[in-house]
Amino acid sequence: MDNCIFCKIANHEIPGKIIYEDDICMAFLDLSQTTDGHTLVIPKNHYAHILEVDSQTLAHMMEVVQKVALQLQNQLHAKGFNIITNMNEVAGQTVHHFHIHIIPRYDQHDGFEAHYLDRSQDANLDDIYQKITGLK
Ligand code: AMP
Ligand code: ZN
Repeated sequence: MDNCIFCKIANHEIPGKIIYEDDICMAFLDLSQTTDGHTLVIPKNHYAHILEVDSQTLAHMMEVVQKVALQLQNQLHAKGFNIITNMNEVAGQTVHHFHIHIIPRYDQHDGFEAHYLDRSQDANLDDIYQKITGLK
């Protein structure tokens, strides 16, 4: 797709620190390096987000995520990972070419924070469940 920065990396039109590549996808270092080794896995074809990508490509990408995470664990001694994808602006997506972040973790104060609010006292679990499953 024209003017897509990740399509340009996938086509080798602009440089990236590529650590894995095959016909379907690619893994390269995120410029921001939230933590050392912060990597993005992208499909070579353009899909805007996770709900657009076909299941075969997605399954293959997850195998590559696992392979790269293992490499980061071995080479950088990461002790854990946050593996996330942001979909649409509301969730913080800034590049609209599907990508999966692999964020290596070294300790709990290493620069990345995944903070989940505990709303268990306020949320109506039954109501939410019924809406999701179509009972309501
Ligand atoms: P998101 O906010 O989930 O859309 O993530 C987009 C990510 O792409 C950010 O973490 C950026 O640092 C990263 N990024 C943007 N441009 C480049 C680039 N040319 N090479 C590597 N990473 C990039
Ligand atoms: Zn693209």
